[in-house]
Amino acid sequence: MSGFDLIVVGAGIVGASCADLAVRCGLRVAVVESGVPGGGVTAASMGHLVAMDDDPAELALARLSQRLWEDFAALPEAEFSRCGTLWLAETPTQLQRIPERIARLAAAGIEAERLDARALYACEPHLAPGLAGGMRVPREAVVYPPRVAAWLLARAQAGGAAVYRGRRALALAPGGVRLDDGTVLRGQVLVATGSDLPELLPALPLSVRRGHLVITDRHPGLVRHQLLELGYADSAHGDADSSVAFNVQPRPSGQLLIGSSREQGRREREVDPSMLRRMLERAFEFLPVLRGLQAIRAWTGLRPCTPDGRPYIGRVAGRPGVWVAAGHEGLGVTTAPGTARLLLDLLLGQPPAIDPAPYDPARVAA
Ligand SMILES: Cc1cc2nc3c(=O)[nH]c(=O)nc-3n(C[C@H](O)[C@H](O)[C@H](O)COP(=O)(O)OP(=O)(O)OC[C@H]3O[C@@H](n4cnc5c(N)ncnc54)[C@H](O)[C@@H]3O)c2cc1C
Repeated sequence: MSGFDLIVVGAGIVGASCADLAVRCGLRVAVVESGVPGGGVTAASMGHLVAMDDDPAELALARLSQRLWEDFAALPEAEFSRCGTLWLAETPTQLQRIPERIARLAAAGIEAERLDARALYACEPHLAPGLAGGMRVPREAVVYPPRVAAWLLARAQAGGAAVYRGRRALALAPGGVRLDDGTVLRGQVLVATGSDLPELLPALPLSVRRGHLVITDRHPGLVRHQLLELGYADSAHGDADSSVAFNVQPRPSGQLLIGSSREQGRREREVDPSMLRRMLERAFEFLPVLRGLQAIRAWTGLRPCTPDGRPYIGRVAGRPGVWVAAGHEGLGVTTAPGTARLLLDLLLGQPPAIDPAPYDPARVAA
């Protein structure tokens, strides 16, 4: 078979976003997904659409993406909830650094406000006593990622994309890709296979960082904001073998999602009780009321992680017709729409929405 402009391998939130935008740009698109669309790490995530300000490149991609996510605010399948983000300062020193962060976010067009302790407890009365204050980012939101991925793929298919569901791409063939049933699809290929990237593109270094999550039964109104400790960025962007950070999200259902943990290089999918305990103990320190709730499920997911923490988005050097969008670590839900925009700009030779250099896969060779 022949004749696609773009063959997207992988229909997680990243691949599905790219496929959908490619169809809307008028390209003839195929999508190859070996499992359930959105069923990879996308289904294991929290779906917090968050801007982290400690890396300017990551902030630019997140900001572009947050703007694009606004198109989903009224889509029932997205389960978009504008709960806002509340970053928690444990110490006066952390509180003192908040104005710098507010300034960085403001420069990117993101509104945020500093809260003293009184204002913090007015926002979230169940927080443990003794916190110094916090930073509220009121326009940030949460979504339900696997459903968005499935919806994007369905829209791409309705727009003409050929979907090869249950088929695995085994290898990049000259001018296309070979599937596990022997089919060869011809066209440019976009590898969007998340933590399975090395199978098709072993030259691009990628490790995994396993994360645990727990979900409780329903307690509507108990927590109103997506809560994160300010030390979360150290866990997300540090290089410790393992770390935990307080991260709790109210779902529109009234359930609470409790994270987060990071374990470098752990690929086992089983829940590790000791890591779960460590993560929950951290959560109880900030939100003691959690101790009395019923956890109904716990799971793990593998964050795909590049050496510098930034995703690969762009053309693969030395592989004509091969593109990549992978390695989004703990921000791939947030940054999927911006990734798709940037990738399609590059593919179509349009002026890119943001500077593509920080994401260029060629940087790892350099
Ligand atoms: C615990 C946890 C919490 C998180 N919370 C957040 C959050 O709040 N906000 C946020 O922005 N991000 C979050 N993330 C990160 C986010 O989940 C990922 O960055 C994002 O989902 C990556 O999406 P993806 O499409 O690249 O990968 P995936 O969702 O894994 O998609 C890749 C797809 O490719 C398919 N595939 C693989 N190989 C092949 C092949 N050879 N042929 C065909 N198909 C193939 C797989 O089946 C899979 O469906 C979290 C992650 C974890 C683990």
